[in-house]
Amino acid sequence: MKKHNFSAGPCILPKEVMQKASEAVLELDGIGLSLIEISHRSKEFVSIMDKARSLALELLGLEGKGYQALFLHGGASLQFLMTAYNLLDKKAGYVNTGTWSQKAIKEARLLGDVVEVASSQEHNFNYIPKGYSVPSDLDYLHLTSNNTIFGTQIKEFPETNVPLVCDMSSDIFSRQLDFSKFDLIYAGAQKNMGPAGATLVVVKEDILGKVSRKIPSMLDYSIHVKQESMFNTPPVFAVYVSMLTMQWLKDLGGIAAIEEINERKANLIYSEIELNPVFSGFAAKEDRSLMNATFNITDDALKDTFDTMCKEAGISGINGHRSVGGYRASMYNALPMESVGVLVDIMSELEKKG
Ligand code: PMP
Repeated sequence: MKKHNFSAGPCILPKEVMQKASEAVLELDGIGLSLIEISHRSKEFVSIMDKARSLALELLGLEGKGYQALFLHGGASLQFLMTAYNLLDKKAGYVNTGTWSQKAIKEARLLGDVVEVASSQEHNFNYIPKGYSVPSDLDYLHLTSNNTIFGTQIKEFPETNVPLVCDMSSDIFSRQLDFSKFDLIYAGAQKNMGPAGATLVVVKEDILGKVSRKIPSMLDYSIHVKQESMFNTPPVFAVYVSMLTMQWLKDLGGIAAIEEINERKANLIYSEIELNPVFSGFAAKEDRSLMNATFNITDDALKDTFDTMCKEAGISGINGHRSVGGYRASMYNALPMESVGVLVDIMSELEKKG
């Protein structure tokens, strides 16, 4: 049965990427060896890493603007610590928009003063704080562009003179932004890029080297930059699949093209949530995420019927996170419009039954 994969991450990847990636596990580009049994210093893998790094900068429009792209280990969670290790000298500001922001704040507090510049905690993170002021003496301001669990997304980024650091794990490569506003962007691969195991870090070189502490080698961005993202053995498979996905996106027309599709998918589901009395949206309308739609069922008696209908239609991965409950339909870049259509049809069918 055809599955419709709404998983929040790891999540759906393009079919042709999966096909090519699985072939490369058996044999990479006719070289008689598997991608995962060759040296990461071989010319074949070095060119894969180079391509992944340059595609990341190209898609974000950051080529030739003083940025470096790295593929590191440890997930986005290690970046919570690494960003602070490399950039936090005295004081940093964080906007608390949910679980992942809180985890970032916790790590940064190990290394310096952290000011919570704004928070939406009092409403269980169902909106994005706005209109807050950013102190001018911060080493950086940390934001989470898309809150995977709560289904909120920053639409307008604060204007500030302090360096901007952004966790884009769950919406990287999904919408057009002026990425040059950011000094450091990080994102775990397992949403819009590839399998878990690699984390993309895009860093503006001139913000590095300013903290007074000694930085352990594996946590030091400057070392990873100098070593061209090969300080130690990189997660070769995750980097390869990420490279294929970025190439897929480029061939499709880049971020501008996918954004249009993502908007259409999101409009389809949010219109249904708005019009259908059986469902209610969790996130504030103006802050709703293009990637993760969070919603509840208004009549608990219909829950079992809805779950059964979803199961029978091959819909997978729409249970909400335990801290929000209800449902979450994640619609990452590779999710086809057709899958959203199937879900929306079931939602409107349920209304007729209700
Ligand atoms: N930030 C965000 C926005 C996330 O969605 C996630 C994971 N879902 C993380 C950070 C943590 O990522 P990882 O599991 O790669 O450490």
